[in-house]
Amino acid sequence: MATGALLKSSKFVSSQCLKVVASQTRTFTSQLNDQQKAIQELTRSFSNEYLKPNAAKHDLERRFPFDAIKKLTDLGLMGACVDKEYGGLGLDYLSLAVAVEELSRGCASTGMIVSIHNFLYANLVNEKGTPEQKELFLRDFTKGAIGCFALSEPGAGTDVANIRSRAHLDGDKWVLQGKKSWVTSAIEGSATAVFATLNPELRHKGIACFLVPMDAEGVFRGKKEPIMSVRAATACTVTLDEVKIPRGYMVGEEGEGFKVAMEQLDQGRIGIAAHAVGIAQSALDTAINYAKERVAFGKSLTRLASVKDRLTDMCILVETARLATYRAATDVSTKNSAMAKYIAGRNAAAVADHCVQIMGGRGLSTEYDAERHYRDARGTQIYGGVTDIQKRLVGHFLLKEHDAL
Ligand SMILES: Cc1cc2nc3c(=O)[nH]c(=O)nc-3n(C[C@H](O)[C@H](O)[C@H](O)COP(=O)(O)OP(=O)(O)OC[C@H]3O[C@@H](n4cnc5c(N)ncnc54)[C@H](O)[C@@H]3O)c2cc1C
Repeated sequence: MATGALLKSSKFVSSQCLKVVASQTRTFTSQLNDQQKAIQELTRSFSNEYLKPNAAKHDLERRFPFDAIKKLTDLGLMGACVDKEYGGLGLDYLSLAVAVEELSRGCASTGMIVSIHNFLYANLVNEKGTPEQKELFLRDFTKGAIGCFALSEPGAGTDVANIRSRAHLDGDKWVLQGKKSWVTSAIEGSATAVFATLNPELRHKGIACFLVPMDAEGVFRGKKEPIMSVRAATACTVTLDEVKIPRGYMVGEEGEGFKVAMEQLDQGRIGIAAHAVGIAQSALDTAINYAKERVAFGKSLTRLASVKDRLTDMCILVETARLATYRAATDVSTKNSAMAKYIAGRNAAAVADHCVQIMGGRGLSTEYDAERHYRDARGTQIYGGVTDIQKRLVGHFLLKEHDAL
């Protein structure tokens, strides 16, 4: 049989898929360099030892994984891409993406917390902060302090240019007023990047980015949002009531905040795509392990054609999502990260759905992991930018490349 025909054969792909998952190896490993492989091994072992055994309990109790975050801090992973002089590991984005994938495979909430802290906060300060800002808002954030990214508002989610939080100068202080919503880790966090407008009429051109200590006077955290996904992580509103911060806490220039936010979201989407791949891989592992043990009609589920087909689909969905995510992490662009998030979020939801189906009634039971994967996978199509807008971004850049806008 020719190779093409062989690869198209569902039987062949099924058997390869079963082999791959059974041995817990992943494809693409050969494309990682030694450092990336070392991070993968480290986070995979950490995930298996510390995260997987506690993930269901933390989810059920909606308990923030403080112990895991402390251990990850000790491993340097809360400053994965931060320059070594500020206490980071100085890794590349692909290493961080691989780490987020492995951590999310063990516990989606932990993977999400690590992803947002690194891709949306620490990397922003590391890449765009002044030396003074890095001293105050970065050094401690590789050693245990948690950082946040406050862009969304009650009236501005996808429509970022519509944000209403205001900033104005009063002498040598910026004064911030407004309300931010869904700020991940705000309850546990020590500082946040805040996006506010200097003039709402200017829409995106009026926005600026500020670094705000969470203990500054006038910063109020709301209650933890009761969400269906990543329940051990926290997200809440943050109210800014006449918050005064020094002039030097603005990142970049006045009016550059929208650009800062969009550039950071290009990275953030790589993180959420990697997080989605980890959840999907865990759903595939869960389904295979169950299908091997469960007997129906005198044989294990893995020998039923419909189950094999589902497992095959799951394998293809996981691997294509991983490919798109790793590509986006090595070749960063709005188009690539939007495409990776689009593919990985949708694929994770489809894989988790197959997992529930393969497990039958147990797939719906809160005693098994499948329903958690299903809930966690769904979230990846919302936070970091909804799937619908990712598709529009890909289309926009595709047509731009072809001079066809
Ligand atoms: C668990 C969680 C954690 C989060 N963490 C953070 C965080 O740390 N920091 C932060 O700033 N935000 C955070 N968010 C907010 C998140 O990024 C927003 O919820 C998301 O961007 C969507 O905004 P929205 O909820 O206002 O939905 P909307 O913008 O109101 O969109 C609702 C729906 O309308 C449609 N839609 C809207 N606009 C378009 C468009 N232009 N094209 C096509 N369809 C469109 C889509 O179907 C979309 O799903 C978090 C959210 C959640 C749930």
